[in-house]
Formats: sequence, C-alpha cells, structure tokens
Amino acid sequence: MGVQESYPIDVEAIRADFPILDRQVGGNVESPGESDDDDQPLYYLDNAATSQTPEPVIETISDYYRNYNANVHRGIHQLSQEASVAYEEAHDTVADFIGADGREEIVFTKNTTESENLVAYAWGLAELGPGDSVVLSEMEHHASLVTWQQIAKRTGAEVRYIRITDDGYLDMDHAAELIDDSTKMVSVVHISNTMGAVNPVSDLADMAHDHDALMFVDGAQSAPTHPVDVQDIDADFFAFSGHKMCGPTGIGVLYGKEHLLESMQPYLYGGEMIRSVTYEDATWEDLPWKFEAGTPSISQGIALAAAIEYLEDIGMASIRDHEELLAEYAYDRLSEFDDVTIYGPPGDDRGGLVAFNVDGVHAHDLSSICNDHGVAIRAGDHCTQPLHDKLGVPASARGSFYIYNTREEIDALVDAVADARDLFA
Ligand code: PMP
Repeated sequence: MGVQESYPIDVEAIRADFPILDRQVGGNVESPGESDDDDQPLYYLDNAATSQTPEPVIETISDYYRNYNANVHRGIHQLSQEASVAYEEAHDTVADFIGADGREEIVFTKNTTESENLVAYAWGLAELGPGDSVVLSEMEHHASLVTWQQIAKRTGAEVRYIRITDDGYLDMDHAAELIDDSTKMVSVVHISNTMGAVNPVSDLADMAHDHDALMFVDGAQSAPTHPVDVQDIDADFFAFSGHKMCGPTGIGVLYGKEHLLESMQPYLYGGEMIRSVTYEDATWEDLPWKFEAGTPSISQGIALAAAIEYLEDIGMASIRDHEELLAEYAYDRLSEFDDVTIYGPPGDDRGGLVAFNVDGVHAHDLSSICNDHGVAIRAGDHCTQPLHDKLGVPASARGSFYIYNTREEIDALVDAVADARDLFA
C-alpha cells in the first residue's frame, strides 16, 4: 500500500518535495549531508524543533541570491526595488495567513523568542510596575517564561502561573482566579511543545480583556499546523517562527494590533527604522519598519512567504487533521507499552507531538537508540524545565510530526522504543 493510504493530505506527493527525506543516516557526523553505504533511511520526527524545507522554498532562496540579492528600502536601483517589493509583499502574505488587517501589523523578527522579547522590552518595561501582574501558564516555553520573569524582576511586577490539571489541560478555573484587575498581560502558549495541549487562547483573551489586560499568544507550534485567525482569537500579539513551518531559520513573526504597535516605542534602534535624525533626536518610520532596525532577514522573509503559500496549497485544515491523526496513532502505539508514560491530554485531543518516558531508560539513551534506527526525535526538557520539574522528570523524549510523516515512521519509532526497553530492562 502507498504511504498516502487514508491520509487527509497527499503525503506521497508532499514527501517528493523534500529532498532531505531521501537522506540516509548512520552516525557519521563529520561530513554533514553525506551518507555511507551502510546507512539507513531517515525517519524525521523532530518537527516541533525544526521542520524540513520543500523545493519551492529552497528554490525561492536560491532565486533571490542568483537574481535579485540587494538591500531593501534604501536603493533606487532595480535589484533593490525588486528585493524591496518581494520583502514587503511577504508581510502581506503573512498578514493574510493569520487574518491580520495588513502589513502594518506584521513585524519580521528572527524567531518567536525575539518576538516575545520585543513585546516584553518595548511594552513591558514601559507599562509594568509594582502591583501589576503578568499571567503565564505552567506549560510556557522558556522563550516566554524566562523573558517575562526577567522583565517582571526589573519592573517589580508579579508573575503568576495557571496550573495544569492532572490530565494535561490548563486549569481554566485557576486562570479565572489569577487573572484580575492587577493583570496587565496574559501570555500563553497556543499548543504546548511538551504536552501537546491545544489551549483555549480565545477564552483566555476574553478573560484578559475583561480586566483590560492584553493577550499574547505563543503560536510557535500552532501557526505551522493549524488554521489561525488572530482576530477570531482576539489576540493582541501573536508570535511564530519560520523554521517550524517549512521556512528557513532566521525569520520569525510578531503580529500586533496596529494601535498597540503604534503606541509602543521601538525595541531596537538604528538604520531602516527611522524617518529623520538630528544630532539631538530621531523620529520613527511607519509600521512595521519602526520595529525592523538594520538590514532585515530579506531572503528568509521572502522564503517564509513561499513556505506559507506551500502550506496553504495543501490546506491548513487538512494539515491539522493529518497532525491529529498521527498524534493519535503515536499515542495509541506508545500506550501499548505499560512502562511508557505519555505527558499531556489524551491521544484524540492534542496537537501533533508526543512527549514520553520509558521507565528505567533516560530520555537521552532512548533518543540515542532511536538515532541508531535512523529515527530523529528530541530528548531533553524542550525548553520547559519548570514543567519537567513539576512532572517529576529531568527530561522526556518527544516525537513530533509534520506533513510528510507517515504511520510507518511512527512504527519505526515504536520499534526503537521496544529495542531500548529490551536493552535496559
Ligand atoms: N514557543 C514554543 C511553544 C516553541 O515550541 C518554541 C520552539 N521550540 C519557541 C517558543 C521558540 O522558538 P524559536 O526557538 O524559534 O524562537
């Protein structure tokens, strides 16, 4: 049977777009990209960390450097104009993708982490003070958790954490207790990169707005895998990274409501973000350029737009269905082992990843045995160390799935887990 058997998307056709999936792997890391004769197929299940790149995106990057590489905004020569048009239009593509009103609301950053820092520094340092609270959840990524923690320390604000229920969901009663009139910002992850929980961010936005607080949604795991409409959510800010959604590294997005971005001071100063400068002072460019100081990630921004077009051609709702199907399959297969603990909500109610541990086997050993099988998974705390402390484990193994993954690849993961159990039992 072909790999596309009963999938919501044409996995076989999609796989053919990703040259790296033809790679063989076998442990020789001295010569990146090269394979040996005795190597075996690659089963790439580390997509929550970084996804792979399809031909149209590789081609977009290559076309840029071959044909119109130039700095943007400044030049009146043809190459600069071509680069500027493509780079600016990439903002429009991103705006359409998440339902923003226009490019004014789309700031290109380096990644989700920088988008979080931008808001924390530009908005948080100016707006927070003693007596104020910032409400996060116990399942926040360090990109949000550490950033708000540090800004709170500097401003005297308090950080509160919404609890997680025993079955891996956010405790919304606790959220309602924590979010009060002292709250100025609620910042919660849309899909947890450890629990796989899909959080009710729209309900949290309502709670925040009832208390005149703002809502920041960390969309690093949701923008690549789910249809997202920032206006439906009523998010004030929404952040994600290109490299988790078929785009290149070095490009991320901060969506912000226009009136909020308008009211904020810049985060980085320098060229490209100013309107006029004297020896005494400066004024700022229009949005979004006010927040894009210096030469931006031009080819990466243009390639992110190509990645979005690629995903939209497949269809975001179908991608979500595919993610859910694989997550449930992985959950069910791993649940066959009575010594495997899976973190987060049940298999039929989660995003496309499964973090787990096997009794008596350290996650790093597990990941290493998986690597021997050609299976690429993640081991560690996945940048959610306090959450792992709460779960009572130092680390977990995580398989995470994307548009090109199949049930057979999850079977390869399960075989590797069985091997690890045999070895360590
Ligand atoms: N938030 C979540 C939920 C993530 O999964 C990640 C990446 N693991 C980040 C934030 C940070 O993304 P980046 O490293 O691209 O800044």
